[in-house]
Formats: sequence, structure tokens, C-alpha cells
Amino acid sequence: MLRRIKYLFSRRKRVVTRFPPSPTGFLHIGRARTALFNYLYARQNRGSFIFRIEDTDKVRSKDEYEKDVFESLSWLGLSHDNHEVWHQSQRTSVYKKYLENLIGEGKAYISKEENPGEGERAEVIRFKNPNTKIKFTDLIRGDVEFDTTELGDFVIARDINDPVYHFTVVIDDFLSGVTHVVRGEDGISNTPRQILIGKAIGAPEPIYAHLPLILAADKSKLSGRHGAVSVREFREKGYLPQALVNYLALLGWNPGTDQEIFTIDELVRTFDLSKVQKGGAVFDEKKLRWINKEHLKKMPKADFEKELKRRIESSERVKDLGWKISDEMMEKIASVIIDRIETYADIDNMITTRDLDFYFSEPQYDCLSLKWKEEPDLSSAENHLDFIRALLEKLPEKKWNEENIRAVVWPYAENQGRGAVLWPFRYALSGRDKSPNPFTLASILGRETTLKRIERALELCLSDSADANKP
Ligand code: GLU
Repeated sequence: MLRRIKYLFSRRKRVVTRFPPSPTGFLHIGRARTALFNYLYARQNRGSFIFRIEDTDKVRSKDEYEKDVFESLSWLGLSHDNHEVWHQSQRTSVYKKYLENLIGEGKAYISKEENPGEGERAEVIRFKNPNTKIKFTDLIRGDVEFDTTELGDFVIARDINDPVYHFTVVIDDFLSGVTHVVRGEDGISNTPRQILIGKAIGAPEPIYAHLPLILAADKSKLSGRHGAVSVREFREKGYLPQALVNYLALLGWNPGTDQEIFTIDELVRTFDLSKVQKGGAVFDEKKLRWINKEHLKKMPKADFEKELKRRIESSERVKDLGWKISDEMMEKIASVIIDRIETYADIDNMITTRDLDFYFSEPQYDCLSLKWKEEPDLSSAENHLDFIRALLEKLPEKKWNEENIRAVVWPYAENQGRGAVLWPFRYALSGRDKSPNPFTLASILGRETTLKRIERALELCLSDSADANKP
């Protein structure tokens, strides 16, 4: 029995999936999802995943877009297995041979036709439709039946050197041994023609799976007018590739469990093409942000620090101000910042909105802001800051950490009123209405800077010389 299973298994055709983009635009996330599902299916079946470039549309195909496809897929980590990537534009002679054979066998013919606009006669090559009913089983949609009569004798080439897309797809899928055609729902109406051509050239019929459309919240097809749609735009918006891959996998598929966060390896293990839904999948950027945050939390700290450093140091603002930020500081703020962001772009926003300035330079503020909202004037801030300074002065450098700072100040704050004590403390350190709590801040800034900032607040705003600021 086991031997028989082994035998059958060895006879089974090795799975080959493919991704054949037309380089006519930046890689859309819908196409990236198609690539991902092909990738996952090939990997989980120990098969191969191949690329080819369908650049027969000479007007719309651009090198720039081809480059983008490769860059985007490599950023997502979806590597292909074929060393040589075919370009259909360079394979005219291959298609020509097949066209000639079909014509020779009477399965296709040259037809002279009126060219509507110009009144000239042009030659096209038409496929001689056997007018049969064809049936195929789509892994997602089940049995699909189609009466091909309605297609008539369809065009397969504009001339012998200019085959149309339906033709080139079939020839290339056949010659590269593709066993599974996993593509977008828009490909379903092309399938009957392609099956007919495949039969005519004697190609084994691949297994089809047509993926549901990706829809915007308004249930229309997701397009540029809804916002970001290309992989490169999401990359620029600061998403992690592993998060985008994770989210794309969930567009039309779910594991049937509560698990929502997947690494690519987990996806290879869990993904099930036959469980992909038929109905359109609604794209939800809020969900993507959440998934991104989960991947941020999981990523190695050192990688996050590296990216944080890169973003901070390359920002115009930091360059203009000439701030030099130590690795030690970078490391300390990384753990605070990671809790406050969902995407890398949030770091850039924090830089421009000056939400990080206080880590690197003395804060500038309006003295009245030191006043806790429930206090009538600044005198309570003065008393509390004075007291906190005295408490913290007793905490030596080597014991200076968040836990100890909290332990020293907390009982006093509990006693005197948390807002009244902690607001001016925090404000003196950050000069911002919103910032991390004062214990975290004081530990990041260090003993010397913390004491200096409290001192400065007292001098600038609260000492007798600053009476003008007192109401
Ligand atoms: N070149 C086609 C496209 O980019 C793919 C067609 C197919 O997957 O069969 O839409």
C-alpha cells in the first residue's frame, strides 16, 4: 500500500505556478497577492514558481514598470525559481512556429478582413473554433461550463509575427510546464479560449484557480482613486514587507482559526488555495496598520533601531539642526517609539511635528503650560518641581532607571495629587502636551539632563525673576 502511494506520488507532476505580469504600471497589490498565492502554492507543494514578462503591448510596456515589478516582489520576499525570465517580446519566433503549425493542421487560418476605419484589407489569424462545450474545474469556483460557440473563430494573431495575448499565454505556460494557473478573477473569461488553444497544440490542461477581486470600502474595484494601490506606495508609506504579505494573504483567504498574524513560513504551511473565497475581498487599511503594528512588535530590536536611526538621521529637520544622536540614545528611544507607532511613516511624522525634539535638544515652551489645569497658578508647579528636584538629587547616577525614579517620585505624587505633581514634571522635561510619562522620559534623558531641565524650568518660569509669568 505504502509503496503504491509512494509510486503514485512520484508519478505526480511537480507543481509549477507562474506569475506573468504585463509591465504596464507599478505593481498593484492585487497582482502582488496573485504572486503571493502562486508562491505559497508552489512552496507548499515543493514545486517551482516562475516569472515571465508579458510585454507584447509595445506602447504600454515600460522598462520602469518591469523594474518596479522585480523590486516590489523582491522587497516582499517572493522569489522566483527560473533563472531565465522570458520576455514575450523576444519570443516571436517561438509563437510563429506554433501559429504556422496550427495553420498547417487546419486548426487556424489566415483571414483577410476589412479594416473598418481605413477601408483597407488586413490579414489576421483566426482560430478555427471546434464549437464544443468545455468544462473545467476551478479550484476556487468549482465546475465551470462554457459553450465556446459564442466565441466564434477568434483572432489569435494580428499577423504571423504578432500573436495576441491568449495565444502567447498558452504557449508559454505549456513550454514552461505550468501545472497551475492561479490568477485574478478577470482571467476567467479568457480561460475557454485558452483551453481551446491548449487542446489544439496538444498541451495538458493546467488546473485553474481564479482569485476574487480586491474591493475598496465602497465595494468597487480597488483603484488609484481610493488611495495607495501599488506595492511601492505601501512601501513608501512605511509598511513592513512581512506585514503586507500577511495582510495580502488574508484578502480572500482565512485559516479558519483565530490566527491573524503569520510569517511567510507559517503561510506556506497553512495557506489553502481551495479555501479561498469566491466573493470580492474588501481592502481595509486600518486592518493592515494593525497587522503592521503586530509585526513591528515581533521584529528584532536591532532591526528596528537601525531603521529608526536611518529615518531620524536622514530627515531634513535633523540634518538642518545638525543633531548628533548617540547609539545609546537611539536604543533608548527605540523602545518608547515602537509603542507609539503603527508604521515607519509615523516616525517621519513624529519628526516633522517635533514630537521627538525633546530627546535631542532642550525644549522651548511657554511657561504657563507648566501649570496643571486644576491649579489656579504656577506656585504649585514651583513647589512640586522643587521637591522633585530634591528627591531626584538623592538618586545617584548608578541607580538612575525608570523603576527607581518612579519609586522615588510616585509616593509624593500620590500624596499631593498626581496631575499637580506629574504634569509640571513631565512638561519641564518635554515641553509638550503629549509625551511619554515623566519616569520614562527622565530615565531616557539621564540624571544630568533631567535635573538641568527641572532647574531651567524653575529659573525661567518659576523663580522670582520670572514673576511676570505668574498670573
Ligand atoms: N499578463 C497578464 C496580466 O498581467 C496575466 C495573465 C495571466 O495570468 O494569465 O494581467
